[in-house]
Amino acid sequence: MKMYINGCEYAALSGRTADNINPYDGSVYDTIELGGREDFEYAAQSAKKAAAEWSEVPLYDRIKIIYRFVSLLRERASEIVAAMVSEGGKAITEATAEVDCASNVFEGFAEAARNQFGMTMPLNADPRTQDDVLFTIREPLGTVMAVLPYNFPVELYAHKVAPALIMGNAVIVKPASYTPKSAYLLTKLLVEAGVTPGAINIVTGSGSEFGKWLEETRLIDAVSFTGSTEVGASLMRSSARTIRRTYLELGGNDPFVVFDDCDLELAVDEAMGGRLWNAGQTCCASKRFIVHHSVKEAFTARLIEKIAAAKVGDPASFDTVVGPLVSVKEAVHAREQVEKIVTAGGKIVYGGEVNGAVFTPCVITDITPNMEIARDMEIFAPVFPIIGFDSFDEAVEIANGTSYGLASAVITQNIKTAMKFAASVKAGTCIINGSGNYRSMQQPFGGYKMSGMGREGTADTLAEFSQQKTIVLKKVLA
Ligand code: NAP
Ligand code: MG
Repeated sequence: MKMYINGCEYAALSGRTADNINPYDGSVYDTIELGGREDFEYAAQSAKKAAAEWSEVPLYDRIKIIYRFVSLLRERASEIVAAMVSEGGKAITEATAEVDCASNVFEGFAEAARNQFGMTMPLNADPRTQDDVLFTIREPLGTVMAVLPYNFPVELYAHKVAPALIMGNAVIVKPASYTPKSAYLLTKLLVEAGVTPGAINIVTGSGSEFGKWLEETRLIDAVSFTGSTEVGASLMRSSARTIRRTYLELGGNDPFVVFDDCDLELAVDEAMGGRLWNAGQTCCASKRFIVHHSVKEAFTARLIEKIAAAKVGDPASFDTVVGPLVSVKEAVHAREQVEKIVTAGGKIVYGGEVNGAVFTPCVITDITPNMEIARDMEIFAPVFPIIGFDSFDEAVEIANGTSYGLASAVITQNIKTAMKFAASVKAGTCIINGSGNYRSMQQPFGGYKMSGMGREGTADTLAEFSQQKTIVLKKVLA
């Protein structure tokens, strides 16, 4: 695949490319252009020109174009699903669900945009502005840079590109190098649907090269990033130079708290579903299982029994529950993290074997709250560290004993316990009787603490990707 800039296929000026590997079978499924500074700058110049034209397209036409895109996306879903299975090893049923979700997200933002109202200030509220009428309108920011991670290349594309385009911005997408193909196909489809060429572009290349360019360019007006906390922090620093709006959706090590009065079967099903989805590579997956001592053994035993029945392996097979990780490298890294936990005193009671990029779900007991895994070690693989507790306060302390705060989960049959926990937990979301691996398109999705800043979703992102202008009709009431 090439890059796609200004409505055209585009090769890196350096002529450099890299292979893209299918993580399940190790085959080369495509090549990726290794873009450099001059290519990124060309994309930004094209976007800047196109932004002027695209922002003049009336909102009702932009909405129609997005709806046309959604029907094309539904028609061509199988091509995008196939790309996701090859590039990232995503299980085919999950890839299918993700494309469907992305269609809904695009539609949702198109609907919400028609009701993005401004404000009229109350008349005569300030003696200095008596006899004036003040009201606001929303205008685009210019060019939005959408930087995507590898784990949800299509859903997160939708959460960034849909609101940015609808509000009249131009967009440049930088997909993760592991998963560029699905994003490339979506980008071409948007132009086919009628988005001004140049108002949607995709560039590829190494993240660090791209980061260096982003630090220097003056052509990008906003960055919306989903990925690691470390890269997020570096983007914030580089945005300071030009006071660039920067929205960050970062890592998590989310708590899943099981009280002694829980429905145990529900607790196990939710733990399993949430942690195994996308082979454990989900930002808002529950990653620390904090279980009351009185139910810990029963919970662990039932969890192992159920996990053992989940099919692990070929992502192209419809009965696979857990596909491979995104690469052999990430699987080796996850295994190293597991070994560190064992060195610290954790005990593997199930799984954890690595075969190529395939990582067998793993249950680890004997975790104490002072261990790194109970605090800030985020594992992007299907690993269940189990931590015991006795009192409510202890559960809250362990849950909050992390630098992260994306989502959280609490399992109990007592609504007071649930609500008290929800009010005490420092996280952007709390799911009662369900896994934190939960996302509706409307909810303000985002993190407390080092899990990020800004909120995604139809309730928030249209405002984040636009700016308010106040217009004053002076002395019009005099
Ligand atoms: P990552 O390494 O931070 O990469 C994310 C994106 O940033 C990729 O496109 C990457 O490009 C690019 N990048 C890398 N270094 C960069 C730099 N110096 N400057 C600018 N861009 C750079 O994250 P990841 O490993 O793909 O994803 C896993 C992390 O994302 C986890 O921590 C996870 O929790 C988090 N995540 C959060 C959410 C959320 O909504 N909060 C959702 C999903 C994932 P290359 O691929 O070319 O390196
Ligand atoms: Mg990375």
